[in-house]
Amino acid sequence: MHFPRMDQAVSVGSAHAVAALTELYPAERLRQAADAAGAAGLGALLLTPGPDLRYVTGYDAQQLERLTCLALPANGDPFLVVPRLELPAAQASPAGGFGLEMIPWDETDDPYALVARRLGVVASVGLADRMWAMMVLRFRAALPAARQGLASAALRGMRSRKSAAEVAALREAGAAIDRVHAAVPGWLRPGRTELEVAADVAAAISGEGHVRADFVIVASGPNAASPHHEPSGRVLQPGDAVVVDIGGTMPSGYCSDCTRVYAIGRPPGEFLRYYEVLRDAQEAACAAVRPGVTAEAVDAAARVPITEAGYGPEFVHRTGHGIGLETHEDPYIVAGNTEPLEPGMAFSVEPGIYPGPHGARIEDIVVCTGRGHERLNHVTRELVVVGGG
Ligand code: ZN
Ligand code: ZN
Ligand code: ZN
Repeated sequence: MHFPRMDQAVSVGSAHAVAALTELYPAERLRQAADAAGAAGLGALLLTPGPDLRYVTGYDAQQLERLTCLALPANGDPFLVVPRLELPAAQASPAGGFGLEMIPWDETDDPYALVARRLGVVASVGLADRMWAMMVLRFRAALPAARQGLASAALRGMRSRKSAAEVAALREAGAAIDRVHAAVPGWLRPGRTELEVAADVAAAISGEGHVRADFVIVASGPNAASPHHEPSGRVLQPGDAVVVDIGGTMPSGYCSDCTRVYAIGRPPGEFLRYYEVLRDAQEAACAAVRPGVTAEAVDAAARVPITEAGYGPEFVHRTGHGIGLETHEDPYIVAGNTEPLEPGMAFSVEPGIYPGPHGARIEDIVVCTGRGHERLNHVTRELVVVGGG
C-alpha cells in the first residue's frame, strides 16, 4: 500500500534529500568537534562507527571487526582510516564532500599502528562512547602514552543542542510515528495476540518511512504494569488497557519514540481514574519545559500530580531521555540532573503509572525552544477505546 508513495518520494525528493543531508551533517562540524575536544582537554577524538562518528561526518558506517576510525586531533588535520573495501561507502557519505583525508588499509596492515603513527604523540584521546572494548584495548596498546577518556566529554554539549536541521529531522520522525499510532486501533481486537499486533506495528513503522523499527512494546492487561514488556503470546481481551510504545530510525539517522494507551472496551474504573492523573502529569511536565529550567524540574513537574493522587511509588522510572541519533542520549530528565535546559535540547516526556494488574504511560518527544517548547508528537493523548464490548 505504501510502495507507490515511497517511489514517488524517492524520485521527486532525491535532490532535496542531498541538500537536507548537507544541512544535517555540515562540513564545519569536523572543526567544531576538534575545538570541543581541545576545550575538553583531549588531544584527539578517535571515533569508530556509531552515533558519534555519524554526528561528526554523516558517515553511517557499519560496526565491524575491521577498524574504521576518524582521528580528529584538537590541533591538526583529521583523517579517516578505513578498510579498503569500505572506502567507496565512506566516499559516498556526506564525509566524502568534506575534503577529509581517507586512508584505506589492506587486510594485512595493522590499522591501529597506522592511526598511532599518523596521530603522533598525544597526551589523551577521547574514544567514541560506543567503541567496542576490543578496539579500546588495541588503542591502549598502540598509544600507550595517551590517557583514554570518552568522546562525550567533548561531544555531549554539541549533540544535545540540536540544530534547526536536526529538529526538522526529529519532527519528521515524530510525524512518521504519529501516523503509525493513528493506525493502531485497527489492529487491536480481542482474540489477537500481542505478537500479532506487534508485527503489524513493526511493518507500519517501516512503511511510514523509517529505515527500521527499533522497538515495539505492546503490553496488554497485566503486562502493561511492566514498562519494558516484550510482546508475548498473550491474547487481547475485552477490558484490557494496552500500552503501545514504539520507535524507529529514519533515513536521516534520527529516531522516533512515542507511547499511547488504548483500551479494548471498558477498562477497570481505577485505571480510568489514574489515566486522567497521568495525562495531567504529562501535560504539566511538557508545560514546564523552557530555557533555564533544570532537567530535574521537568521530572518533578511530572511527579507532583502523580504523588498527590497517591501513585508516587508506582511511577518507577525517570520522566524522560534525550533523543537524536540515539533513542536514549543526553539530556536525561531525572532527579539529580541540575543541567539547565537550552534551546535545541530534545527529549521524551513519558511519565507512567504501574500499579498492576494494569498500567499506563504517555510519551511525547519535546524540544526546548527559545521561549518554551514544541511537541513533536500530536496524535491524541486521550485514551483511545476500540471495540470489545
Ligand atoms: Zn523506555
Ligand atoms: Zn518510548
Ligand atoms: Zn522513550
